[in-house]
Amino acid sequence: MRIVLATTNQDKLGEIEIILAGAGVELVSLQSFPDVCPADETGRTFEENARIKAVSVRDQTGLTTLADDSGLEVDALGGLPGVRSARFAGERRDYDANNRRLAAVLRGLPPEDRTARFVCVACLAMPDGEVHCVRGTLEGVIIEEPRGSTGFGYDPLFLVQEYGRTLAELGPAIKNRISHRARAMEQIRDILIKMRGAHAREPFD
Ligand code: IMP
Repeated sequence: MRIVLATTNQDKLGEIEIILAGAGVELVSLQSFPDVCPADETGRTFEENARIKAVSVRDQTGLTTLADDSGLEVDALGGLPGVRSARFAGERRDYDANNRRLAAVLRGLPPEDRTARFVCVACLAMPDGEVHCVRGTLEGVIIEEPRGSTGFGYDPLFLVQEYGRTLAELGPAIKNRISHRARAMEQIRDILIKMRGAHAREPFD
């Protein structure tokens, strides 16, 4: 089964390809569809944005499309930066500037008030109009100074308490097993496997 991956973020793309490897699907990136216009992310929730992206690319290509929308929810900030995660420090998507701003706005808060979670909503839009959306989360704590050099985005500030390490210290093998994206993509993999089973059982006319 060929699936178009509706993301232009190379960091997310790389992780999704690793997580879905072995799921029996051929992932095709948007680079193979230069005429496809990415939809504006005008939604107020991760669900709305993931659905907008998946449906828009599905409608333009006619092919099964997978899109994800993800970000960080910090409890002390009432869930911000949320859908604004990529642009927390300004319209230019700048990981370091976002991390500096996050560290600055939380300065002085004790560890118990620094709880946060990564959220990933993935939507699979089918050519017949059906859309399946799933959600994966990873709980953690925002530390004061960045630690580690792997991953991307807020990974160096996001401490996973079970491991006592940030996502940027844990490395890709562990991150791609426990992350919000891994948890969402595992559910997508299950949906794809069920679909394959249902098609295999369809009677021939
Ligand atoms: P999107 O491309 O609009 O989904 O932006 C997601 C933003 O959320 C990214 O630019 C990062 O700032 C943040 N983000 C999402 N997933 C991760 C992750 O796995 N690690 C670190 N930051 C993430």
